[in-house]
Formats: sequence, C-alpha cells, structure tokens
Amino acid sequence: MTARLRIALSKGRILDETLPLLKSAGIELLEEPSKSRKLIFPTSNPNVDIVIIRATDVPTFVEHGAADVGVAGKDVLMEHGARGVYEPLDLNISRCKLMVAAKKAAPEADGRLRVATKFVNITKQYYAEKGEQVEIIKLYGSMELAPLVGLADKIVDIVDTGNTLRANGLEPTELIATISSRLIVNKASMKMKHGVLQRLIDQLALAVDNNR
Ligand code: AMP
Repeated sequence: MTARLRIALSKGRILDETLPLLKSAGIELLEEPSKSRKLIFPTSNPNVDIVIIRATDVPTFVEHGAADVGVAGKDVLMEHGARGVYEPLDLNISRCKLMVAAKKAAPEADGRLRVATKFVNITKQYYAEKGEQVEIIKLYGSMELAPLVGLADKIVDIVDTGNTLRANGLEPTELIATISSRLIVNKASMKMKHGVLQRLIDQLALAVDNNR
C-alpha cells in the first residue's frame, strides 16, 4: 500500500509558484482554491491531499505531523524556530530579502533604537548578535508606516523590488538574510513514509533544477 501524504501550502505567491513544481511530480489540484472555501483539497494523486493555511502556520502543522510536508519561506522558518522539521530542499521560489530599513538620510537615533517589525524573534537575535540594545515594536503589517509617523526609527521587513520602501521615502540599510521558500518535512513522516517522500523530494529537486 502506498503511504498517504498531506502537503501544507499557503495562499498567494507560495501556492502559485509551488503548484507547477508539484505538477511535475504528478500532483495537481482538482479544483481552484481561490474559488472555494474548502481548506483540504484532493489532488490528481488519490494518496495526496493539500491543505491551504496561513503561511505562519505551515511550520506548526508540519512539526506536529498534521501535514507530512509543507512549503514555507525561510523568513517564516527563522521566525518560528522550526527546529522540529527537516528542511531538505530549497525550492528557489518567492525569493526576496529580509532587511533593516530607515527613512532616507535619517540621523542616528539618540538613545535606544526603536525597531518595528512582525519578525520579533529574528530582530531580537540580529541585534543581540550585534550587541545592540533595541526596543522592538511588534506590528502585524504596514511596517513602512512606523518610521513615517514616529513610531519607530527603523523597520525589519521583506524587500523584493524595493518599490514599497521607495514609495514611502525609506531605504534599506542592512541585509539580514536572503530568503526563498523551502520544502519542510515532518521528522516521523520522513522515517515512516521514507520511500514516497524521498521520491517526492527527488522529483521536486529535478523540477527546481529545470527552473534555473
Ligand atoms: P517590494 O515593494 O517589491 O519590495 O515588496 C515588498 C512587500 O511585498 C513587503 O512589504 C512584503 O510584505 C511583500 N513581499 C515581497 N516579496 C515577498 C515574499 N517573497 N514573501 C513574502 N512577502 C513578500
């Protein structure tokens, strides 16, 4: 009997860029997720289904074995910790940079630097490694606004084209990490379903190589 597999993906860029890779592994969605309120989707492979969840929840589902496999941005994995999962493949999709940014030509802050971000753990670790004491202000979105309204001196955010920063008079000042999406695998699944998972990883690796 072939092992059943559940794959966790998130809507948007990751879903759009992962589906063509899965297609080359013989896994295709049978219906369009944007036209459905369902959360679990069957695929062209009767042994595989796909759950579509929030990007930040993907490591949690895979870590607990609620999904065998997932696709998550390196930013999400770094922020989550994700020590309980394997990360066997860089899918080389959804590439971007995690950066510190500030208002153009902003003077150095006097006193303790205030940094607004949704990446609280990454930011804490980054400044701890630099030996700098900072105040971190947790936001859930629109980080770019914080320096403009005096909420923070700097932000830590994802930068792709840099258009969002430029449109708000901000500029990147430091690179924290280059980001791409990774395949993650539950540790127990990797043992129990090794054959089918290794085949999937190999097929995806081939598709990633062909994309280069
Ligand atoms: P950009 O204006 O092209 O630099 O894009 C910046 C905004 O798009 C950021 O505020 C991010 O929230 C979002 N973004 C761009 N690329 C990614 C990505 N690969 N993953 C998640 N968010 C992204």
